[in-house]
Amino acid sequence: MKKSIIIGNWKMNVFPGDGMKIVRKIAKKINKNKKISNLDIVYCPSFLGLADMSKLLNSRLFKNYFLGAQNCFWQDKGNFTGEVSPAWLAKTGCKYVILGHSERMRELRETGEMIQEKIKAVVKNKMTPVVCVGETLDDFAKGINNYVVLDWLIKVLSGVKITSAEEIIIAYEPSWAIGTGRAIRPSHAEYMSKIIKQAMIDIFPLKIVQNNIRIIYGGSVNSKNISSFVAKDLIDGVLIGRASLDPKEFIKMCELII
Ligand code: PEP
Repeated sequence: MKKSIIIGNWKMNVFPGDGMKIVRKIAKKINKNKKISNLDIVYCPSFLGLADMSKLLNSRLFKNYFLGAQNCFWQDKGNFTGEVSPAWLAKTGCKYVILGHSERMRELRETGEMIQEKIKAVVKNKMTPVVCVGETLDDFAKGINNYVVLDWLIKVLSGVKITSAEEIIIAYEPSWAIGTGRAIRPSHAEYMSKIIKQAMIDIFPLKIVQNNIRIIYGGSVNSKNISSFVAKDLIDGVLIGRASLDPKEFIKMCELII
């Protein structure tokens, strides 16, 4: 079984200074749990909070905590006004980068080609891309969710190569479950994880799929429903938006996973 992972995506909801307080509160409680080493805990604050958070997470108190970014650019350096370099994210201490989140596709019109370039840049800089994929409610109603998910994964992962020292995380996030308080049925998440696993087997060598790819679920996860998702064999963890903002709720969720 792969190690479980919980990723808190704070989006644009936590002012950088306040984020440090949240993480300290969580660590104070969570570090007392002996099974904590069974879990990777990732925080994705705003870009403005990364440097301070990195210093905090580097202290011995935060052994199982990792830093993630919510996005990056596909070039390391150059005349790209307003963009953020993946090389600098790595230097700042980021281990994970969320890519292709449905909010960015919707609000900023990011395309599959852009996401593919970003994935390659993140892997090149020795970080782990957290690649989001999922159908809309309309796709689901039309019954084309499998096709949409497969088509997207093939598009964004084509030409991406990873070695046994690297990792990719695929986050199955149906956009109709994100931020709505309406999580999907865990059996549907499990079914879609099977579809994703098959796509991974078609794209990458089997050994890489077995050892270096984790599939997680995201979409209105909270302390009430988390257990039913992570109980599924094919679901290696969760990506959490709203419920990651409340330290008590986040502590509960971590304890329910480990
Ligand atoms: C997300 O934005 O990736 C997400 C899963 O959000 P929420 O948990 O709020 O649905």
